[in-house]
Amino acid sequence: MGCPGAGKGTQSAKLKETWGLKHISTGDVLRGEMAAGTQIGKQVAALINHGNLVPDELMIAMLENIIASTDQGIILDGFPRTVAQAQALDAMMSRLGREISAVVMIDLPEAEVVKRLSTRRLCKKCGKPAATTTQPTCECGGELYVRADDAPESVKHRLEVYRAQTLPVKNFYANSGKYVEINGNQTPQQVFEDICKVLKKVK
Ligand code: AMP
Repeated sequence: MGCPGAGKGTQSAKLKETWGLKHISTGDVLRGEMAAGTQIGKQVAALINHGNLVPDELMIAMLENIIASTDQGIILDGFPRTVAQAQALDAMMSRLGREISAVVMIDLPEAEVVKRLSTRRLCKKCGKPAATTTQPTCECGGELYVRADDAPESVKHRLEVYRAQTLPVKNFYANSGKYVEINGNQTPQQVFEDICKVLKKVK
């Protein structure tokens, strides 16, 4: 978990590589639907581009299909984003005979979020953010692009949505014994090391 720009995608990619986990980014799944021009993609495009959340029912059904399709360990990136989604995830986990090992919240001050997202460029090929603001292409050679919902107005709104709808999820997990907060205002490698310490304990 974490606010927009906290580094969820970056850390998930590192965890996928190191721990052999399957990375499920609900944002990536939705952007994939949009790019493919599917019915779901058309339904969610305006919501996403304006920084609003996609309805819970759609997200929950989508996620259950994905989780049910694999036995691999999973890192969920961007889900749950509402208390209703967290409740549904618990029910889904029991139905599928699975368990949540840890809920990792990457904490980042809002001023830092705005700074990060105003300069963020992502790679069309590997999905990773560019390491610098000036490089013409990604390290992998892929073309860089700016996400429509990284426009300043959308970022402001995404933060409001985050405060109103996603922060309450923190209370949902606070007493579960699985909830951990990590300081996101460090280098990606330092954040990663902090997350690994948590995962080693629950492994
Ligand atoms: P992300 O890539 O995680 O920043 O997600 C981008 C956008 O996808 C969000 O701003 C939402 O519009 C939508 N989205 C992703 N995950 C969810 C979710 N779990 N619930 C509702 N909307 C979501």
